[in-house]
Amino acid sequence: MSYFELTIHEAHELLRKREISSEELTRAVLDRFRSVEEKIDAYLTVSEEMALEQARKADKAISEGNITPLTGIPLAVKDVICTRGLRTTCGSRMLENFMPPYDATVISKLKQSGAVILGKTNMDEFAMGSSTENSGFKTTSNPWALNRIPGGSSGGSAAAVAAHMCLGALGSDTGGSIRQPASHCGVVGMKPTYGRVSRYGLVAFASSLDQIGPVSKDVTDCAMLLGAISGYDPKDSTSVPREVPDFEASLTEGLSGVKVGIPKEYFENEGLDPEVSDAICNAIHRIVELGAGTVEISLPHTKYAVAVYYIIAPSEASSNLARYDGVKYGFRKAGTGDYLEMYKKTRSEGFGPEVKRRILLGTYALSAGYYDAYYRKASQVRTLLMHDFKQAFQRCDVILSPVAPTPAFKLGEKVDDPLTMYLSDIFTISANLAGIPGMSVPCAVSSQGLPIGLQLMGNHFTEEILLKTAFNFEKATDVKRLKPEI
Ligand code: GLN
Repeated sequence: MSYFELTIHEAHELLRKREISSEELTRAVLDRFRSVEEKIDAYLTVSEEMALEQARKADKAISEGNITPLTGIPLAVKDVICTRGLRTTCGSRMLENFMPPYDATVISKLKQSGAVILGKTNMDEFAMGSSTENSGFKTTSNPWALNRIPGGSSGGSAAAVAAHMCLGALGSDTGGSIRQPASHCGVVGMKPTYGRVSRYGLVAFASSLDQIGPVSKDVTDCAMLLGAISGYDPKDSTSVPREVPDFEASLTEGLSGVKVGIPKEYFENEGLDPEVSDAICNAIHRIVELGAGTVEISLPHTKYAVAVYYIIAPSEASSNLARYDGVKYGFRKAGTGDYLEMYKKTRSEGFGPEVKRRILLGTYALSAGYYDAYYRKASQVRTLLMHDFKQAFQRCDVILSPVAPTPAFKLGEKVDDPLTMYLSDIFTISANLAGIPGMSVPCAVSSQGLPIGLQLMGNHFTEEILLKTAFNFEKATDVKRLKPEI
């Protein structure tokens, strides 16, 4: 096995025993990057020098006996998270040359734990999309099938993990952007509870929905990464002052006593591919065999989730993206005319079509006369969706469902049809609207050789239950051992 194929916990063991150095590990991953990146296009920026410098620093720390689970581990970061002195584009021409003057809190935490940051991964522009085809720079390919999407919007992170171009990565999830690409690329991804992880330094898309979370090769790594980035941050007013549990410790608990909820509406969805449906049902059976009990639950407002999300997220985005005005920072198209002309030209050229569509939708939904009909109504239905989950979690501990209605679709298949693209978010957006944690764990490979993920959702701040359910399941299947051939 080559070093780049290691999981974080395997590499940590070798580093701890001083059988490898972080520099060797980092060089192996960088070599791997050079040999496969041409086919995948997962990264927007790679900083070899910075990474090797951090690796040498980690080796020094280890030699002095200072080692955390992430010391010396080479990781990738979605390009929506600010990294000091390392270009952060958000997949947008608007921020093509943006060099953040500060680190996001999650980055400070990774650096404090001695992790090595390799670079920044490709994404849909401002995290708006489900396929990574909305990037202002390039499209990323799915390592399992190069003519297919990796999922979005954290497609670069998921593809980089699946293709072993990093040991783990961070993504962000506003409506499914960690879970969907994790599902399509056959890796593990988690959107934590809203408030679990600081959003300070995460470029805002829809602030009431955005969360940063891990993308990893297995569930243990997911628990390790989550532990490293979680915790209260006074710099983020929505972060919750709550102790961070030992996520790894909960993995080894068994599943007896765990009640699994099966949301009947999710399986009645007409867009659900029968192969995905079968894969999820088989996974549920496996989890029951492992000792969990099941109960059918109802999330009756699910049918409104896509409509609600596509009012709320664009509304918040239209407000958040007002800051890109050609004055404060980012791209500027100077004209011969007045300020207004400069503003119009800057935003017309700097933003891509999907971002403009969201700004138009959001501005419309928030405008006087329409606010009550759209934004207020959507917020009211959002409360009903939250109520659905509240009721469901009185009867179960974890909800199991598909992540996406189909396995990865072909590149180009849905780019011209935004509505169909939006419908692929049906199973993931409710968790963001309700602020609950959700994760994707590989559960099957389709007849066409494409990975399928199982979604687990839990009540607020019950990530441990999701992790232990996923861990027990992972141990009981051999899906994890299947790898893309690239
Ligand atoms: N696909 C959803 C959207 O386009 C979710 C994106 C995300 O989670 N960042 O808004």
